[in-house]
Amino acid sequence: MIYGALEAGGTKMVCAIGDENGNIKEQVKFPTLTPEETMPQIFDYFKKNNVAALGIGCFGPIDLIKESPTYGSITSTPKQGWSGYNIVNAAKEALGVPVGFDTDVNGSLLGEMTWGCAKGLTDAIYLTIGTGIGGGVMSNGKLLHGMLHPELGHFPIGILPGDPGKSVCPYHDDCFEGLASGPSIKARWGKSADQLADNTEVWELESTYIAKALATYTVTLSPQKIILGGGVMHQEQLFPLIRKKFKEVINGYIKTKELEDLDNFIVPASLHDDQGILGALKLGIDAANE
Ligand code: ADP
Ligand code: ZN
Repeated sequence: MIYGALEAGGTKMVCAIGDENGNIKEQVKFPTLTPEETMPQIFDYFKKNNVAALGIGCFGPIDLIKESPTYGSITSTPKQGWSGYNIVNAAKEALGVPVGFDTDVNGSLLGEMTWGCAKGLTDAIYLTIGTGIGGGVMSNGKLLHGMLHPELGHFPIGILPGDPGKSVCPYHDDCFEGLASGPSIKARWGKSADQLADNTEVWELESTYIAKALATYTVTLSPQKIILGGGVMHQEQLFPLIRKKFKEVINGYIKTKELEDLDNFIVPASLHDDQGILGALKLGIDAANE
């Protein structure tokens, strides 16, 4: 059986077809323009491939409440033309197959739970640090939705003393995303994050924010593992810095086997940047079996 996977992002749409064992047969990308321009190409692609179901991991915020009249739509995005667009209804109408739907980050976590480093766990977090900061949460073996879905980037982290930057979040003047996303690094230091690899001051500050955030998630959600993905986390020197500072923040208060082994607790994504598309594939497989 062939399933469709769509990783719907604010800049690009990644489409793939694959089987129930997580083998991706083909992957294509389309730029994210307006829904009218972009979606017909995507639906044509999946139609041509005769997919049995489609899974969508989507940028947000999105409406994930199955009983809601607007279930399946993108809600308050500033992205031109997408606010209120019901991507699930459009896909069902165009393809006539079951459609699975979740946030992009829950999708990435599902990919890691199914075929990656969160396999066999019951509680884990996937955090992406890129253009924005967002996170997916698995609690008791299930992806957490709650009233909407977690928004792990938008809690008040507090600006660190001596930080020359200011929040880039239009909603909050001291949230984690506002102070530690890729664009906030660029705004603070005048160069994009990938061009600052050698500037130790940048990664000292960045790792302090990330460690504080991970400690906050650890005490509130009690994960067995935290997986870090997204463009900024390609700076591998962040990992040892984050683990060291995380340990200082927790300060011995929580004693578990997981926290005794931070190299296996705070880890990079394990699926070579395919975690998002593989998660979308699993959303499709699950939708077909519902
Ligand atoms: P998106 O979040 O838009 O899906 P990414 O996860 O690639 O895409 O995040 C893009 C952000 O990550 C940009 O702010 C960019 O500067 C930053 N970034 C991309 N690659 C690197 C890198 N190798 N090192 C540090 N930052 C990077
Ligand atoms: Zn914010």
